[in-house]
Amino acid sequence: MPPAFKILAADKLADEGLAFIRDQKDAELVNKPGLTEQQLADIIGEHDGLIVRSGVQVTAAVLDRPGRLRAVARAGVGVDNIDIEAATAKGILVMNSAEASTTSTAEHAFALMMALARNIGQSYHTMHEGGWDRNKFQGSQLSGKTLGVVGFGRIGRTVAERAVAFGMKVVAYDPFFNASTALDGKVKMYGEFTELLPHSDFLTFHVPLNDQTRGMLNKQTFALCRQGVRVINAARGGIISEADLLPAIESGQCGGAALDVFDTEPPPADSPLRTHPKVLVTPHLGASTLEAQRAVSVGAATALLEYLRGEGISGAVNAGGVRLDLDPIQARFVDLSQRMARLIAPMLCQGIDRVTFELTGKQLASAAGTIERMALIGLLGKHLDVPLNVVNVKPIAEQRGIALRTVTTEEDGLGGLELAIEIEHGEETCRIVGRVYNDDRPRVVQINGYHMDIVPAGVMVLILNEDTPGTVGLVGTDFGQAGVNIADMAISRRQTKALMTLKLDGEPPEALINRLRHRPGILKVMIVKLPELPQ
Ligand code: NAD
Repeated sequence: MPPAFKILAADKLADEGLAFIRDQKDAELVNKPGLTEQQLADIIGEHDGLIVRSGVQVTAAVLDRPGRLRAVARAGVGVDNIDIEAATAKGILVMNSAEASTTSTAEHAFALMMALARNIGQSYHTMHEGGWDRNKFQGSQLSGKTLGVVGFGRIGRTVAERAVAFGMKVVAYDPFFNASTALDGKVKMYGEFTELLPHSDFLTFHVPLNDQTRGMLNKQTFALCRQGVRVINAARGGIISEADLLPAIESGQCGGAALDVFDTEPPPADSPLRTHPKVLVTPHLGASTLEAQRAVSVGAATALLEYLRGEGISGAVNAGGVRLDLDPIQARFVDLSQRMARLIAPMLCQGIDRVTFELTGKQLASAAGTIERMALIGLLGKHLDVPLNVVNVKPIAEQRGIALRTVTTEEDGLGGLELAIEIEHGEETCRIVGRVYNDDRPRVVQINGYHMDIVPAGVMVLILNEDTPGTVGLVGTDFGQAGVNIADMAISRRQTKALMTLKLDGEPPEALINRLRHRPGILKVMIVKLPELPQ
């Protein structure tokens, strides 16, 4: 039998990555670095997966006739050489292997901080020139100092762990990390960037470059820092304003900077950053270790094959970090998110303006991308005629002007792990909250402020009614007369209204639903068919 998956390596990959693919029984490696754009476009459709580094341009023209191509994996982080929009439009997953360089980049940032603290760069330089100046280069100890970590993602967290081990006090800021502490209470989180600044002796940046982060350390924010603050940027050039850095150093407000990344790379030969004695520079070396380079190519090949085999999605660039390699609890929440979204979807009568996902509990945070996308498919699936999948659902939602927000809270809530989905549409807001208890069954515990405890599965009917005596009896009689058995029922009251959530043994006839809709005091009747729970 021919191997199931044909993988085209169109760039020069580390031998370990190539060997990994060759070793897989279900994969055939086609190793063809150095193709022209036209040659690549001509053969790409014969392959199931493509792996590149930064040397190959995967343009819209290359992806125009995708044939059997289902995924493009970048061995490394930056995906500037891949036309993400074109890939997304064709339903092709683009993935990178960012995680593989986390440790190397964190170690580099840490090395820069240590070198700054002990003037390694400058003292090395003077010894090279024949000098021996011990007084000038007296340093400062890291232990006991406070490190401010800006961006508490993969790299920020890894740097923080190391700083804690060095006896540093660590504080951090990340607007998408909703907890007062992290790393088991060892890191204090601040809600505002400006709050973190007066507390930090060292500041290290681990955020993506975007409109919010470009120039976030500038003249105004430098002024809020401790006098002599030392700053490190091993994330992306431009996060520390290059124009404002040198004046801050000259005035003594900044005690030194270590930069691995620059506005323009390489920086101009006459850039003062290259020669300033208080600026330590490295040429974008964060991920440049043998281990990271091996790991990115093996990581890209592994992720690509896992996706093709249907085993999981990791490092997805155009699918928001969707993962199928979830632990059992995360998998139950992913399933619950889709059930919750489908349950609440019929209540949305106007266009959706904003969807907020609130994930309570550390275990849910790492599955956020998957939960978000599966819920969106559940929410929008009925309203759109485009087939939705994990690759296209988020861009389609955004194209339709739906703002998406995810808030994660590290500490478990009172009810343990919890997922809330809030949908703003027109003047109204709908909110549904779900949990999974120890019996492993998903529950909806709240809809629009109405408390309940119901397993979202099978045929369900939601009835919103005026909270007047006799309504429940009326509904029960109507179902009974139509020969439809109610298997479970939750009634919740709020102010003058009540929400009945019914689980039925079978599908209710259309005539019954119409009759209910015309009963006095009944405001809304919605029917939803959800998959049964697996036995
Ligand atoms: P990540 O996505 O895991 O973490 C980024 C974090 O930044 C997230 O937690 C996010 O919530 C946070 N964030 C987003 N906007 C923010 C804001 N306005 N203020 C504060 N926090 C904000 O990414 P990562 O893998 O940790 O990478 C971090 C950075 O390092 C990226 O810019 C990446 O490109 C860069 N990087 C550099 C090198 C190198 O060679 N120097 C290598 C790898 C990664």
